[in-house]
Amino acid sequence: MLELPDVEVLRKDLEKEVVGKRVKDVTVGSTGIVRAFHRNRPELVKALEGRKIEAVRRRGHTLFIDLDDEHTWVIDPGAEGTLFRETATAELGPQTHLSVSFTTGGAIHLAEPGDEPTASTGVVATEGAYEAAGVNPDALDPLDDNPTWMEFGRFLAAASKPLKLLLIDPQHVVGIGPVYSDEILWEAGLRHDHPSDKLSTQEVRRFYRAMHEVLFLAMKQVGATLDEADPGETTDEDEIADHLKVFGRDGLPCFRCRRPIVRTRLKKGVYTYHCERCMI
Ligand SMILES: [Zn+2]
Repeated sequence: MLELPDVEVLRKDLEKEVVGKRVKDVTVGSTGIVRAFHRNRPELVKALEGRKIEAVRRRGHTLFIDLDDEHTWVIDPGAEGTLFRETATAELGPQTHLSVSFTTGGAIHLAEPGDEPTASTGVVATEGAYEAAGVNPDALDPLDDNPTWMEFGRFLAAASKPLKLLLIDPQHVVGIGPVYSDEILWEAGLRHDHPSDKLSTQEVRRFYRAMHEVLFLAMKQVGATLDEADPGETTDEDEIADHLKVFGRDGLPCFRCRRPIVRTRLKKGVYTYHCERCMI
């Protein structure tokens, strides 16, 4: 899935590309992609066509594109969805589920590999758009909210959960998934099961600093862009290993202490990559 750094880079690209433009034609490839928001495809087409785009916002890994009629176009990239730039006349490929072209030329396509798209999109009233998109407005978005370290400390104490499960729980934190939760904890030197309300002041500061460092570095290095995104290609494991310090590196030596990285199952479908020596 796209995590916060990837989507923030995508948001910035999209902002440059589409703000101020007016939607010309909308083509929806599969009904599945609009089902969370609309009864049928024509509903989305009608809500988007002719509208001017005023802003591109993000909350967690969901994009909120404000239109000129107090409505917002929501794009949830799902497990593997991505956006890319196309010419206005480009046809929808088998994995492209949505095409939105603009009166001034060019188009944006939403694509996801596989038969069953997990990405979803729709137009909702701007007021209450987070709730309509299933995003908890009270959950922390570490980039968007930009808390101070003391606010972050109060948030950790109130949440009272094991750190890894806290980071990936969208009721508490939005936009962090399996990859960056492990990376942040490794950088902070904190174990996945360390309770969030049992951190010393020093540990809170280290955690806070690690979170910023990992997210900002990731935005520089691996952020998806509208140009580079390839709809048919999933992320290459070797490519991941190049950029990341701990995720996907089980059996390989820890970059800090050389002890092999371990992969541990936390619950169904949830794994953590960690170092047993330097994460406490
Ligand atoms: Zn280590």
